[in-house]
Amino acid sequence: MNKLLKKLNIFQRYRKLNTKKEKKQFILMWITIFTCVFTVIFVGFCISYSINKNKSSQIQLNQYSKLEQEEINQKLNSYLHNIIEKNTEYENQNSSEDLKNDTSESNKIKIDMHENLTETNNIKIRKAINMVEKTTYAAITFDDGYNKEYVEKVLDVLKKNNVKSTFFIIGKVLDAYPEVWKRAINEGHQICNHTQSHQILTDMSSEAIQAEILGWEASAKKVFGEDYLIKMKKEFPFLRLPGGGGAKSDRVLAIAQKNGYKVIGWNLETISSVINPLKNKKTVSEISDRIEQHVVNNCKGGSIILLHFNQYDMGNIEQIVSGLRNRGFELQTISKMVK
Ligand SMILES: [Zn+2]
Repeated sequence: MNKLLKKLNIFQRYRKLNTKKEKKQFILMWITIFTCVFTVIFVGFCISYSINKNKSSQIQLNQYSKLEQEEINQKLNSYLHNIIEKNTEYENQNSSEDLKNDTSESNKIKIDMHENLTETNNIKIRKAINMVEKTTYAAITFDDGYNKEYVEKVLDVLKKNNVKSTFFIIGKVLDAYPEVWKRAINEGHQICNHTQSHQILTDMSSEAIQAEILGWEASAKKVFGEDYLIKMKKEFPFLRLPGGGGAKSDRVLAIAQKNGYKVIGWNLETISSVINPLKNKKTVSEISDRIEQHVVNNCKGGSIILLHFNQYDMGNIEQIVSGLRNRGFELQTISKMVK
């Protein structure tokens, strides 16, 4: 600052001034200059601070969206699922004449559903499996697979604790990072069908449901090779319905069965029982603690536990594994429990 003042020769110039008026004007001029410079710097700083703040909140928002995407989908799915299942019950009560006389666009699915139910009248439709009786086994299962980082974390924890698990991964997600899923297979986990694009099946035509199931098979074949798909269909032919939609629909269950699948549900989950009720009221780590207690305390022999690769389920994943083990459960794949 002194050097700058010397350079500007302010003091010398001030001394050379003769009258009081000139000195006063000189001081005023420099006060004005300093004030202007300071204001410009201050305003610049404020603008850059507010831009950075916006940027960082935008980044936070993006991260939030990515992490929460799966849970929002699930919430929406289960909401839709409830509505669709109620409609299906209503539709099944209608006579065939009512359905066939109705030619409006919105009723095309109803007619299709009715025809498929008639076709499946002669076969015994297998129900979805939500848990298994009389065993000390329990299965931790992981759905969807949206977050690669969390998938890798789960693989590390499972490997460290020598636990084998069943993953129900969306076909499109298999395609997105195949190397991670190949690692899962190599480490002894089983990856099963969760459809190609995770749409609610009860809302779709029978052809579209079939395409969703077969689309997943095409992705699995591309990622793991045909041998894996053959082995899977023979030894662990499991399908989990997106959002659980169709678990009580004879039409959806019949299509799964026709394609060689056993439908696997769950009897213990965290999204609707812990995450959704606590979200916005608790921190992530508090919710993760509750999830750990919920899963460890409520697990029974034969439980099928549904987890997702989200920040809440993943928070205490290692403690969940050790907590279940401490209670005496042998953590296994679904294929060890369901024959
Ligand atoms: Zn899912």
